[in-house]
Amino acid sequence: MMSTLPLNDQLTRERRARLRAERLYEQVQGELRQANEQLKAHAYSLSDQIIAQREELLEIRNHAQTLEGRNTQVAQDLQIAHSEVDLANLRLREAVETLKDGFAVFDKDHVMILANQAYLSVFRAFPEVRPGISYRRVVEICAYEGVVDLEGQSAENWVQMMLSRWHASEIAPHEMHFTAGISVRLVDRRVVNGDVVSLVHNITEALRYQRELIEAQEKAEAAAQAKSAFLANMSHEIRTPMNGVVGMSELLAETTLDPDQRAYVDTICTSGQALVQIINDILDFSKMDAGRMELHPEPFDLEKTIHDVLSLLAATARAKQIELILDYDLFLPDRLICDPGRVRQILTNLVGNALKFTESGYVLVRAVGMGASDAGHVVNITVEDTGIGISSEDQGLIFTEFSQVETTANRRFEGTGLGLAITKRIVTAMGGTIWVESEPGVGSCFGVSVDLAADSSTRNGGPVPQALGIGSALIVSDHLISREILSRRLAACAVSVSTATQMDVALRHVAKACPDLVLVDQDLSEPSVPELLEALQAACAGLPVVMLCTSMFEAREAMQSGRLRAALPKPLLWRDLVQVLAPEQAPERSEPQAPLSAPLVAKMAAARPVRVLYAEDNKTNRLVFAKMLAAQDLDLHFVADGQLAVEKFAEIAPDIVFMDVSMPRMDGREATRRIRAMPTGKEVPIIALTAHALEEEIDRIMAAGMNAMLTKPLRKAELLRALQDHMPAGLDQGVGGAKDGTAGEAPA
Ligand code: ADP
Repeated sequence: MMSTLPLNDQLTRERRARLRAERLYEQVQGELRQANEQLKAHAYSLSDQIIAQREELLEIRNHAQTLEGRNTQVAQDLQIAHSEVDLANLRLREAVETLKDGFAVFDKDHVMILANQAYLSVFRAFPEVRPGISYRRVVEICAYEGVVDLEGQSAENWVQMMLSRWHASEIAPHEMHFTAGISVRLVDRRVVNGDVVSLVHNITEALRYQRELIEAQEKAEAAAQAKSAFLANMSHEIRTPMNGVVGMSELLAETTLDPDQRAYVDTICTSGQALVQIINDILDFSKMDAGRMELHPEPFDLEKTIHDVLSLLAATARAKQIELILDYDLFLPDRLICDPGRVRQILTNLVGNALKFTESGYVLVRAVGMGASDAGHVVNITVEDTGIGISSEDQGLIFTEFSQVETTANRRFEGTGLGLAITKRIVTAMGGTIWVESEPGVGSCFGVSVDLAADSSTRNGGPVPQALGIGSALIVSDHLISREILSRRLAACAVSVSTATQMDVALRHVAKACPDLVLVDQDLSEPSVPELLEALQAACAGLPVVMLCTSMFEAREAMQSGRLRAALPKPLLWRDLVQVLAPEQAPERSEPQAPLSAPLVAKMAAARPVRVLYAEDNKTNRLVFAKMLAAQDLDLHFVADGQLAVEKFAEIAPDIVFMDVSMPRMDGREATRRIRAMPTGKEVPIIALTAHALEEEIDRIMAAGMNAMLTKPLRKAELLRALQDHMPAGLDQGVGGAKDGTAGEAPA
């Protein structure tokens, strides 16, 4: 049966239930929608993640592929690098093996890491010497197994020495000799990483070569010494007879002779001296060749030295009618410092050559100051000639030994071909230079440039132009250069100069106004000199005329005629003219000694005659000596050897001794030593006489206790000067007359 609830209620209840259900449904549906939304969002996010991861994976895969590629490249590179290293190693090993020298490398712990066969070969008998061995062990094997010549050291010491050397920061090179006959030089170098690279140079051949060179040098020196000794002996042998020739001709020239005889005697004398000069040249050259030339610098008068040389050669110039001219720079100091003997030698050779190779014209010597230098003055000396000249090819050769432009087959000129070689060596030794300018057929000009100090005792700026006390001068000469040089010099002394080459021109000058001085060249070709002198005096009575002469002998007549104020030798030495015109202005003589003459020496003789002992084995030399001193009041004693000299000295107690150096039985040196050992022989002057011109001989002679030395051939002037210079005090005051002959013994 149906419920009894009213229907409305039922319906309300059902509606309510339905509403509830509907609300629930809606709620559930909302929740479902929300869940659905969430699910969707999650699904999106998941799919994003998947996409991102997929991309990442792709990237990783790509990267992995790249890495794989790279890995392969690296593997390939490594392989290449390995093979290159192998190749470099091979090359290094081969290179090291090709070295003739030993080569090894030790690491910082001194263990061998590399060595080539050259290094190991000396240790063939010791297989342990190979990479891996220690340096100490190598050294020990060398020392204890007799591999190395220890040169007198004990094995321990040697090992010690080698190890301390090895540990030094800078390892010094070391020479050693293997007993197998090999010599080596060790050069070890420590490199940056501490390794030591060891080079072992084989010097066996080099040492052998060096020994041979030393032997060859010793032989050459012995030969050079033998040559020098031979030359010295030869020179000695030649000088002894030359002493007779030169000494006797000098004595003969002092006797009364007719002009022909005088000419012959003069020729003998000059030829003798020339021969001595040749010997000197050869000796000089051999000395220079052996590097033994010495210079003896001293103050000297350059102008006078050049003039002396020209005066000596004036006769040759005159014979060939060559004008010899000197042009000395007015502003050069008068005294310079150099070796005057060597300067003379240079000039003699250059001027001698100029005269020899010139047939006509002139030879002009100029000395010019080229300005101040650190040392003093640069002096250029040139010798200019108008001779045959020298081709440019030959100019390069003539300064070498034994070179002459002409071949021996067609020689026209005498000579040794040594002169210029010697000259060049002297100039070089002086620190100077020498040169030549020349044109065949025109002439030559040889020049020397040297740097010379001025002697402090003289004016430095050269001569102050002197007031000659004259206002005008006339020069009559037909030589242009001579005229010019004279004019220049006179003009520098404020003299107004006119010149003439001919008589009428000269007379015209004189007619206009009488000059204060006329300088006439003796060698005028036109007019004749006596005629000119007469005409000059006629035009201007008492006119002072000075003649410049090449021959003083020929000027005698003019002097005697009273038409000359003076005759001066050509080339003119300026101070000679000053001496004539203004004696108070003339510079002091360059040589302080007065010219030597017989009476001067005679003054030395004391109340009793001076007692002279001369020890000399050569009869001619004794005779020359006695004759040269014949005019002196001397008590001469002669002995023939050193032994007799010592005995005679004890017997007669001479005032002065002349001692030949080379004598039989006892030489002069030994005799001198013995005399010096005697109580009476300590102070006596002993003068050596020697034919040895070598410097070291001179030293040895002087070392024996001699006071001075004279070289043969003896010159009378030098002998007298030596006597004067060494005369003991007390004997040099009294005046004794010269006498005929000698006291004491006659030379036997
Ligand atoms: P020599 O003893 O032969 O003169 P030098 O060494 O002095 O030897 O000279 C070498 C050469 O140089 C000479 O032989 C000559 O050929 C050449 N000679 C030197 N000076 C002159 C000069 N003034 N004029 C021409 N030739 C010269």
